[in-house]
Amino acid sequence: MEIYFDNAATTRPCAEAVAAITKTLTETYGNPSSLHGVGLAAQLVMDDARKTIAGAIGASSEEILFTSGATESSATALIGIARTYGRHNRRIITTTVEHASVRETCNHLEEEGFEVVRIRPREDGKFDPADFVSAVNDKACLLTMMLVNNETGTILPVAQVFRAVKRINPKIITHCDAVQGFLKLPLRVSELQADLISLSGHKIYAAKGVGALYIRKGVRIRPLLFGGKQEKGLRPGTESVPLIAGMGAAVKTFQPTITERSKAVSELKAHLLERLTSLDEITVHSPADALPYIVNFSVAGIRSEIMLHFLEERGISVSSGSACSKGAASGVLGEFGVKPALVDSALRISFCHENTKEELDILTESIRIGQNTLLRSK
Ligand code: PLP
Repeated sequence: MEIYFDNAATTRPCAEAVAAITKTLTETYGNPSSLHGVGLAAQLVMDDARKTIAGAIGASSEEILFTSGATESSATALIGIARTYGRHNRRIITTTVEHASVRETCNHLEEEGFEVVRIRPREDGKFDPADFVSAVNDKACLLTMMLVNNETGTILPVAQVFRAVKRINPKIITHCDAVQGFLKLPLRVSELQADLISLSGHKIYAAKGVGALYIRKGVRIRPLLFGGKQEKGLRPGTESVPLIAGMGAAVKTFQPTITERSKAVSELKAHLLERLTSLDEITVHSPADALPYIVNFSVAGIRSEIMLHFLEERGISVSSGSACSKGAASGVLGEFGVKPALVDSALRISFCHENTKEELDILTESIRIGQNTLLRSK
């Protein structure tokens, strides 16, 4: 038995993505830059995926750049913007709850001499657009803010914040890491007011190693890599056509079902919360209005890794609630007001539409048994 509740870490590629990848690997193996028919066929596969992904966010094909994943998309966006617009305007505004890919890139830019202003959630765990507005001045070149937090599922008020800061400084470039929201929430570039958006393939039932960056028409950006003219010279190197085709296929498959999947997953979340309330010593950290796909909670007195391994022995994959990198917690849960004692015992359950209530019953029953055995053996 395998029960997989770690879809925020990665998803199982869907049949459509696997088929598209295999077909492209075996049949459309040309180099899209080649001028002959074999190359052109690969170019057409890529064009189709680009059009699909652009359409899914209300962008045009020319505004989509393919990358190796969201980490590269965000690095390209942030460093590229800093190099293009940041010569005199050295302020970058971000939040304290970003994924490491954005957080560490901002740290890197800070080391290079940029002034990084990090906005924290208020005591209630919510961001106040006024805090971003006060951080903006005419020296601000970039604001980067995630759409959905990967640890708690908290939805950030990105559109509201981007709109408000652009009113103060229309020149500021806005970037959104939309990885955890893409194909889970309706996403339109016009509504989000984002100049740049990072997307990842493997969180949406496509393969690892592919992602996209939306770059609004007119926004200039200096490349990180130098070489050929692929992707308008912004991302030189032969494109991974098979993985790009897989991402296109996943988007084509799941874009039309955002609402019904969200409904199904909301029912799963409600079921999980109901089961959790029947257990002792559980504190739920994800806010009620979070994206239903992610539920973060603590089982008091049992460290995350201990419970994670206990569940793993029973065939259940979950994640420790505070994303760790080589043993160091990210600190994001603390930023959302979770007490230190509970951070150590946090678990993250992240759904896909294929999970079932029966699986959740097995999970919660296993946690109950875990509490009985692990707490007693302490
Ligand atoms: N941003 C968020 C919010 C994520 O959850 C992740 C993946 O964990 C990433 C960025 C990085 O994505 P990728 O693995 O495609 O580089």
